Amino acid sequence: MNARDAFVKEFGTEPAGLWAAPGRVNLIGEHTDYNDGFVLPFALPQRTVAAVGPAPAGEWTVCSTFADEAVSFGLTQPGEVTGWAAYVAGVVWSLHENGFEVPGARIAIDSEVPLGSGLSSSAALESSVLTALIDLGGLDLPVERRPVIAQRAENDYVGAPTGILDQSASIRCREGHALFLDCRSYEVEQIPFDLAAEGLAILVINSNAPHQHVDGEYGARRKSCEQAAAILGVPALRDITGAELEGALARLDDEVMRRRVRHIVTEDDRVLETVQLLKAGQVREIGSLLTASHASMRDDFEITVPQVDIAVETALEVGAYGARMTGGGFGGCVLALIDADKADVVTAAVEQAYAEAGFTPPTAWTVTAGAGAGKL
Ligand code: ADP
Ligand code: MG
Repeated sequence: MNARDAFVKEFGTEPAGLWAAPGRVNLIGEHTDYNDGFVLPFALPQRTVAAVGPAPAGEWTVCSTFADEAVSFGLTQPGEVTGWAAYVAGVVWSLHENGFEVPGARIAIDSEVPLGSGLSSSAALESSVLTALIDLGGLDLPVERRPVIAQRAENDYVGAPTGILDQSASIRCREGHALFLDCRSYEVEQIPFDLAAEGLAILVINSNAPHQHVDGEYGARRKSCEQAAAILGVPALRDITGAELEGALARLDDEVMRRRVRHIVTEDDRVLETVQLLKAGQVREIGSLLTASHASMRDDFEITVPQVDIAVETALEVGAYGARMTGGGFGGCVLALIDADKADVVTAAVEQAYAEAGFTPPTAWTVTAGAGAGKL
């Protein structure tokens, strides 16, 4: 059932409008966001739609095609609404905390973004609801300030310590472009990313691997990076350049911490190089950077699992220009840069490799760079 029909079924009336926000894949730049570094996501064509209509002041009701029951709440504090509706209550809370008068609303959600696969269904949910509430209430909130409001909902209300990547991508991406984001200044540059014109495609391969220990491992990586920055006397690891890396590593005693730092510093450089290549129209050439990013996540940051490693290896064996895990890690999706006419061959090869390894079958599909959040 789509969001409009879900709204009519739940509330017995038509919504005032439909707002959509996409999931995302991060082309390159993993775990660099909370190190004040660089990322390069693009929006998926798959998106979350919020059908929204007015309600009395201070009253919100939300239902989802992914949940059995609607949830109603007033103005709450973190912890009061739990489960999936916390993402929505968190957006209301975050807007309120930032001094906005949030309009009461009835909200029905439907999503094409797979949940919990590292394609950021959580940010798509937050961003669709945020955009709807801003429009419905006529709130004066420029687009560059919106990702932080949605991020705060996820960090402080839901309690997931994620960086600014997901919400920035869902809100600020443009069709046909990748979003080059400086996670310190929040400055963005729209980088043309028209794969079809080059006969290329990005294949997204969902490993369908069970997510395990995600929050704990994510928090541990984050802490390790922050501790390293403190030891090195910089505000964040973004402040260590590639040229300074060896000197910085020599000042760290802990072998694990050294590897974490090496991933972040080299990953920031790979994002910058990828942007330069894309600007020069050398799209195939980014492949080796994608693959190097994967090796760095596997060996130095240690956030991959066998399912994603095998998907990357297999895609490369059958001719992908480059491949890497995308998203926070410990499962989730792989992206492969391929000739557009090779999607079936690569998919079949990965399916076979999974069958031989005894893994749950993967799901794969090609994607183009879609639009950011907005009213439909
Ligand atoms: P990801 O963002 O990678 O998909 P997360 O664990 O961050 O994974 O977010 C997934 C969670 O977000 C779901 O478990 C659910 O609580 C919530 N969510 C996302 N989309 C929806 C939706 N359409 N309806 C209800 N809840 C959703
Ligand atoms: Mg998420």
